[in-house]
Amino acid sequence: MDTNLNLGRASMEAIELEEKYGAHNYHPLPVVLTRGEGVYLWDVEGKKYYDFLSAYSAVNQGHCHPRIVGALVDQARQLTLTSRAFYNDCLGKFEKYITNYFGFDKVLAMNTGAEAVETAIKLTRKWAYMKKGISQDQAKIIVCENNFHGRTTTIVSFSNDPVAYTNYGPFTPGFIRIPYNDTEALAEALKDPHVAGFLFEPIQGEAGVYVPDEGYLSKAYELCKNANVLFVADEVQTGIARTGKLLACDHENVKPDVLILGKAISGGVFPVSAVLANDDIMLCIKPGEHGSTFGGNPIAAKVATAALEVVKEENLAERAENLGNLLREGLRNIQSDMITCVRGKGLLNAIIIKPKDGKEAWDVCVKMRDNGLLAKPTHGDIIRFAPPLIITENQIKECVEIIEKSVKAFE
Ligand code: PMP
Repeated sequence: MDTNLNLGRASMEAIELEEKYGAHNYHPLPVVLTRGEGVYLWDVEGKKYYDFLSAYSAVNQGHCHPRIVGALVDQARQLTLTSRAFYNDCLGKFEKYITNYFGFDKVLAMNTGAEAVETAIKLTRKWAYMKKGISQDQAKIIVCENNFHGRTTTIVSFSNDPVAYTNYGPFTPGFIRIPYNDTEALAEALKDPHVAGFLFEPIQGEAGVYVPDEGYLSKAYELCKNANVLFVADEVQTGIARTGKLLACDHENVKPDVLILGKAISGGVFPVSAVLANDDIMLCIKPGEHGSTFGGNPIAAKVATAALEVVKEENLAERAENLGNLLREGLRNIQSDMITCVRGKGLLNAIIIKPKDGKEAWDVCVKMRDNGLLAKPTHGDIIRFAPPLIITENQIKECVEIIEKSVKAFE
């Protein structure tokens, strides 16, 4: 695997610096980017690419959206951080805006997706002890196999991906793992009276874009309601119009008790995450019991408001729905033995690559890079396709041609 294929001097230098001075906790595709605008990225040698990853669905509104960047710059000149030791004149307005937007009583703002998941876990446990009457330290949360909810010690405690958890023990107890897309397993696990919540991804993104059967979410919701168990949706990757609805849960008209958002809530401009819930749940956490220095800071509040406005004004959910259909149709029409599966919803999609003559998904991604489109393999043989939702029909068609040409290069 020659990762430095076809690289210019400026790219080589940037990669060498990261290699020498940065921790080796990532294995990026060899491309060094310097500028982004809309659906496009440019590398340090000036080559232009389609972005088909959108920073793992953080850049749904497109790179450097002028409205969102404008909000960032304006607020950065005015006031950046007060901590929550004092009030500021941005947070309350944002809290009103986002709770109305998603239809919840309250929001708790954090910074990264993993922090928001941690917040949801703590909130679920707190509710269990204060409201459900589970005895101290007995609360359990049901999670799914092949989940990805972030990288903290507690979150990797309930991962079944050895790459995520190996050598990071001892692990946090209190999680029951069941197969994904299996309501019988859920019903069985819910028999345990110590269960406080069901934490799930409506579509498993990092696992490789696993879309559950139709009816899974609504059945799971019904089972949780009957068991007085919180329905906790991690929509960090699937939320904010990515799958063709504002939330992936909207496809089955179920409303989570606890909603976890991140990534595109800021259009990829600033780390902002949020947990939403109604008063009976959210007010279980009292002053001083949870927080973060940067959570809900003035810049985050302004940036996230602008990013959410853009989603509505530019009809991004509808675009994702229609363009996703076009993309999958185009991908399914590609005649190649190497593509064995095309799946997804809205503009969260993936193909599975069958290796050919030693060439695998990584090589296809390097070839697509050479042809002007950036995507990244996951779990060896899966390539996710998730462009910014502002992409046009003609651009989707051009991208399908690039993907086809790249795959066919190995025939
Ligand atoms: N939850 C889900 C569903 C995710 O996809 C991710 C990131 N890929 C996270 C949580 C973690 O988000 P972050 O990297 O911002 O901590």
